[in-house]
Amino acid sequence: MKPEQLIYFDYAATTPVHPEAVDAMVGALGAFGNPSSRYEYGRQAAQRVKEDRETVARALGCVPAELCFTSCGTESDNWAIRRGVEANRRKGKHIVTTAIEHAAVLETCKDLERQGYEVTYLKPDKTGRITAEQVVSALRPDTALVSMMLVNNETGALLPVAESVKAVKAADPAVLFHCDAVQGFLKVDYPLARLGADLIAVSGHKIGAPKGIGALYIKKGVRLRPLITGGGQEDGLRSGTEATAQIAAFAAAVRADMADSGRLEHTAAIKEYTLNKLREALPKLEVISPGEAPHICAVTLPGYKSEVVVRVLGDRGVCVSSGSACHRGRPSHVFAAMGLPKPWLDGALRLSFSPESTREEADNLVEALKGAVDSLFTTLS
Ligand code: PLP
Repeated sequence: MKPEQLIYFDYAATTPVHPEAVDAMVGALGAFGNPSSRYEYGRQAAQRVKEDRETVARALGCVPAELCFTSCGTESDNWAIRRGVEANRRKGKHIVTTAIEHAAVLETCKDLERQGYEVTYLKPDKTGRITAEQVVSALRPDTALVSMMLVNNETGALLPVAESVKAVKAADPAVLFHCDAVQGFLKVDYPLARLGADLIAVSGHKIGAPKGIGALYIKKGVRLRPLITGGGQEDGLRSGTEATAQIAAFAAAVRADMADSGRLEHTAAIKEYTLNKLREALPKLEVISPGEAPHICAVTLPGYKSEVVVRVLGDRGVCVSSGSACHRGRPSHVFAAMGLPKPWLDGALRLSFSPESTREEADNLVEALKGAVDSLFTTLS
């Protein structure tokens, strides 16, 4: 549910909480038992968590025992990478990842570099693409882990994860493969466990659940030490009393999304409509990436400062991003890695869509952006 008056095109930053997720959350808040308690109230809470785990596991295409709830995608990424390299420490201290990962992965890798690990950051081409060949070529005998995202959060590019897993495992089956699928969960039309990765991170607030819930898929047979120790919840792998209300909302959001079979086509169609309208209305606008994922694309207005454009649009009730919401005003490392010229970097905007997005909202966005551009001086003029 988002406020009526808001024209929201920043669904990659976060999504409005789905009404069914709100209902599920309120229900779970009322039935407040601790799933570890041995009396009826506790047993009921444990049963609900069990059913919710089954729902999310079904969406991922895995068995419930392979799924641990976490607090967010960032925690899932941290757990997978930190404990993944530790589990493989006998192999060595080399990590392969891409230069276009989210900060949840990049900052974790940088922290590990400070602890003596070596990290290879694969560079994308001009269109933001990375190939499976690049991944395999970067492997060394001491490579412990590969981390590759499924959908880039700034360009919407789909990375060749399944192909890379296959190639990496063929070259060296002992290498652990982690995939940050935070922007891919329920945005690609196949269950993510099919990617073949050992570890897959997802997050609730990108799919209509509230903030504060995520999950890590840990493939059967992969052993990770817990990141958080304590009372032994989540089969001893992630302690802390289960966030029953968030978990209930996560499962309800998953159910609501999966029940809407036309959601991906609708999202992609609105994105395409918006891009066409933008090209018509703003001849100076360039498309950085139309995005293979249905919900994200990146454009630029060379000569304009995207922070200013975002602010002017925000004043008119239109929400877009000048890059990932996590960058807080810094130029995008993703667009920089793609080697975009400075005026393109400065003017870059990310637009992101959902099944709720409408043509009318798209028309309003285009009009507002045209108005913003007309009211601003370019830095080139
Ligand atoms: N990975 C990607 C690709 C993301 O887009 C995000 C959030 O924007 C995260 C990880 C972090 O997820 P969370 O906000 O749940 O910590």
